[in-house]
Parts: sequence; C-alpha cells; structure tokens
Amino acid sequence: MKKSIFTILSLLSISIFAQNHPYWQQQADYTMSIDMNVDNYQYDGVQKIVYTNNSPDTIHTVFYHLYFNAFQPESEMDIRLQNINDPDGRMTTNLGTKEKPIFESRISKLQPNEIGFIKVNTLQQDGVDIQFETIGTILKVILNRPIQPGEKTDLEMTFKGQVPLQIRRSGRNNKEGVALSMTQWYPKLAEYDFEGWHANQYIAREFHGVWGDYDVKITIDKKYILGGTGYLQNANEIGYGYETGKVKRPKGKKLTWHFIAPNVHDFTWAADPDYTHDKILGENNVMLHFLYKKTLDKKYLNNWKKLQTKTAEFLSYYNKNIGQYPYKQYSVIQGGDGGMEYGMCTLITGERIYKSLVGVTAHEFAHTWFQFLLATNEAKHEWMDEGFTSYISSLAMNEILQQNKENPHEGSYKSYTKLATSGLEEPQSLYADRFYFNKAYGASAYSKGAVFLAQLGYIIGENNLKKTLKKYFEEFKFKHPTPNDFKRTAEKISGLQLDWYLNEWTQTTHVIDYAVKAINTTEVVLENRGLMPMPIDAKVTYTDGSTEIFYIPLQMLLGKKSTTATVLTDWSWVQPTYTFTVSKPIRSVEIDPLERMADIDRNTNFLEVIKK
Ligand SMILES: [Zn+2]
Repeated sequence: MKKSIFTILSLLSISIFAQNHPYWQQQADYTMSIDMNVDNYQYDGVQKIVYTNNSPDTIHTVFYHLYFNAFQPESEMDIRLQNINDPDGRMTTNLGTKEKPIFESRISKLQPNEIGFIKVNTLQQDGVDIQFETIGTILKVILNRPIQPGEKTDLEMTFKGQVPLQIRRSGRNNKEGVALSMTQWYPKLAEYDFEGWHANQYIAREFHGVWGDYDVKITIDKKYILGGTGYLQNANEIGYGYETGKVKRPKGKKLTWHFIAPNVHDFTWAADPDYTHDKILGENNVMLHFLYKKTLDKKYLNNWKKLQTKTAEFLSYYNKNIGQYPYKQYSVIQGGDGGMEYGMCTLITGERIYKSLVGVTAHEFAHTWFQFLLATNEAKHEWMDEGFTSYISSLAMNEILQQNKENPHEGSYKSYTKLATSGLEEPQSLYADRFYFNKAYGASAYSKGAVFLAQLGYIIGENNLKKTLKKYFEEFKFKHPTPNDFKRTAEKISGLQLDWYLNEWTQTTHVIDYAVKAINTTEVVLENRGLMPMPIDAKVTYTDGSTEIFYIPLQMLLGKKSTTATVLTDWSWVQPTYTFTVSKPIRSVEIDPLERMADIDRNTNFLEVIKK
C-alpha cells in the first residue's frame, strides 16, 4: 500500500503548465544513512541525492544548506542576534533587568563541544570527486559535468555533524529535556526555480526546499524512541508502539530505524528515551501519532491526552476547508522551542496549558497545507505561510473549541492596526530576515497576512474566498506558488480584478482610512483619507429606525461582489470623496459595520446626525 502512495504522489509532482509560462520544479531524491552517537551528539552521514534538472537551464553550480553551522560563535545568526533591537528571547540571556535589558547571544557562549556543525568530508558527482567550498551555512559546489535540461545526476556525500545545544528550533537537550530535536540537520540541496538559486544564509527565518522522495536510515542507541517525517519500514524490529505484529529486535546496542517519505521537501525527526507514544486514527485512515515525555507533570500529561481527538478534528476541518491531507500519518512531537512545522509532523514544547497546547497544534498542523503542501518560499513570501495558516487556524479554533467569536480574526486585525500606526511597518514583500524589528516581522507575516485573507473575503465575498482557498490548494499543492498565483486564482473565481490589492497590501505600507464626512438630510458624503483604496459597505440608519446596507464597488475591481446590499455606482481611487443620496432622512451612517476592512481609524467610520 505504501508503494502505491509513493507512485501516485510522485506523479503529482510532474511539471504542468501554469498560466502563460511552463511551470517546472527540480527534483531531489535522497537516500541517507545516519549513525548517531548519543554520548557526544555527533553523527556520521552518507547521503546520495539523485538530482533531476527539470529547468530549461544548464546547471554548472549547485548549493546546499548546512543549517547547523549557524549555531557557532561569530556566525551570521550570532552577529544578527547581537545587533537586532528586539532579539528572540529564546536565543538570548538577559543580563540586565526587565526594564533595562542587556541581551547576550546564547550562540556566542557555545563551547566547541556545544556548537552545531556539518562538515562535508567527501563529495562526488557520478562517482568522480568534485570541488566544494563552505561559506557560512551554504556549501557551494562546482560540478565537473554541467547538468543539461532534463538530465539527472548523482551527488554522493559523506559528512559529519554535531547537534548544537538547543538555541533555536533544533538542537539537543531543549529546556524541557527532550534529547534530540533534529530539524534542518542534514546537508540539504537549495532550491533552484524560475527566479534562480535560493541559497540564502540561515540567519533566523524559515525555509524553502526541493521536492523529492526520501529513504532514511537512522542508527541510534536502542533506548531512544523516534518520531518524525516518513513511514517506518521496519516497525516490527523497532516496537515502541509502531509495531504491527510481534516485535523482534536485532541484537546490539543500537537500532536502525528505516523511514521512507514520498514527495516531501524536508525530513525531520526527534528522539528521546522517555517518550510515550500514543496513536489514534483520523479521517481517511490517517494515523495521528503523539510523542511526549512520560516524565511530564501530570497536569501536562492530561493535556496531551485531551489533545488527541482535537487533532483529529483539526485534520477533518482542514481537509474540508482547504483540501485533502495526502500523507498517511502525522505526528505531534514534544521538542524544539515553541511550535514549528515540518513534513508530516510538528515539534512543540510540551509544558503548556490545554488551550495553548491545542492552539499551537492547530496552528502548526495548518502549516502542513500552506508551508508544506503549498510550499511558497517562506524566506520571501512569509505572509503567505504564516498569515494563511493563522487565518485558517483561527477559524478552526473558533469552530472546534466552540469559541463563538463574531470575528475570529479580531486579534489579527488589532495587531495589524497597531503595526500600521507604530511607524515600524515595512512592506510584507521584504525578505523575512531583513525586517528591522522582529516584532514588525511578526505582525506583518502573521497578522497582516491573516488580514490579507479575511479582508479579501470582504472584497470578493466570503463564498468566493472559500472557493478560492480550495481551488488554490487543488491547483498548486506540491508546487511553489507565488503571491500572483494566489491572486490569479481569486480573480478567476470572483471575476474581479485584484492586482491593486496584492500590490498595495503586500508591497507597500499604504493604510486604509475612510471616513463619513457629512450627512445632509438624505445625502451622504464619504471621504478616502488613506492611500489604500477599498470597496465600501455602508450601513445607513434612517430616522424612522429602519436600516439599509449600501455597497460601493471600487472602480479598479471592474465588477462587484455578490451582495444583498443596495449597489451604488463605483468609486475610483483618484476621487477623494464620494456622495450618494438615499430615499429617507438619515439618522446615522457607518462604514463597514462588520469590521472586516482594516481601517486604521475606526472613529471616523461612524457619524450620527445630532438632533437640534
Ligand atoms: Zn506559523
């Protein structure tokens, strides 16, 4: 059965034509054998990548990521940490006070046996040694033989790695005592696409990878229990809750865990001798695994039990509202330093109150659809990953935890407004690592990104937004869609023109600021005081107490959303004001009464006629 899944998923990744230019993507199929020493946290690896050049270009040079090299004093990650105004608290020690903090980079204090590294020992292309050079977290490789369009080449490597003390995302001995959080831990080929190479240094932010099939063998001390990406192939040699029959472990101090993972762009694992391993079956027979330390405080252990059926409900919710989860398993694993999404799994810290454990799981699991299956380049289009994930997980939480919030995205709107009025905002299209403040990055990627979608529902209608999300997933899963791909999907579904929205919302810091300027008996004057134009929903309350909703399309839409409101003539962005007349005397007017438009000054959105 696993083999047939392998084949179907591989077929899905074959290039198809998208829009005007032929879409293509590279393929990197990995076979790796790792031998882990749990006493000194070093590991030896043998890696073979079959690299297929589906691009129309001849490739002379390839790049790998060596992410663990970031966890060394004087690395770019360390220097950045020492210079950013608001460094990540997990990566620093505060030597001052809360009021007057003095941050010390934890990376700068790592001893030689605590740093992370990946050292490439040998590298061959099709059996012949090739030249390579390590530049920080990037390995540059000059090929002996250029890879022609459509050709494959074998890249074989031996390497030695050391797992750093847990600083960020991955590492050993995290603050809850999880032994190994193995994320971004192997030499990983950089992605090459229509924009060229994406061989950026690991500074802080997230990832972009090449799709491929993985076959991974991890040899490790027999007492360790593993979870992660991929289907365990030798479950009955392992046991620990994975077995399907009688467990028969080979002799010796170590066990070799053999995983395969079809059509993924990353392979993650975690290991600890104290894991409890629970399983429940979710929709479409997807096996949900939960690995958490049995030494957790009892109150946390209970939360990990209660989490399990909720995770199954999230699976059903995302299946229904985005698209079908294509793999056969998903694992929620205690590890890492917060919550971080990976292929078929998430690593999250375990000492959490119930609401936080469920909330973070809802968020990280939702990432599977946006970060993992609709694998937009997170280094560049971070808002498409964090924002869309925040959007859908807020909806899922509202329904599954019965939060009954009128606007489940209220928090995102508030956080965006705070950013937009702070003077610290930078355009969303900026590289994730290049934001001047971490907090401005966060509000931009998560909150403004979620508002991008919630507000799109206001522009094109909720039904069209729902259809757009599903169509986008169907068309672009297992690819690397761009902002324009999403915009085009929304345009095709709604029949409305949206280039203005994508451009101004994501590439500028223009803000929305509309106002009700005047009411003259039966006449309403609206004013656009901001640089970002929008279509307008307005509620008019008449002096007789009745109400009427009006809709003013933005002229640039070249159409209108489906609405039960009274539709007025459109409003062009060049016009600062807009006047319309109604049939009865007016008591008050309110712009966007449902608060779906991210107007930075809502005080001017309402005007009431003062009785004389
Ligand atoms: Zn996230």
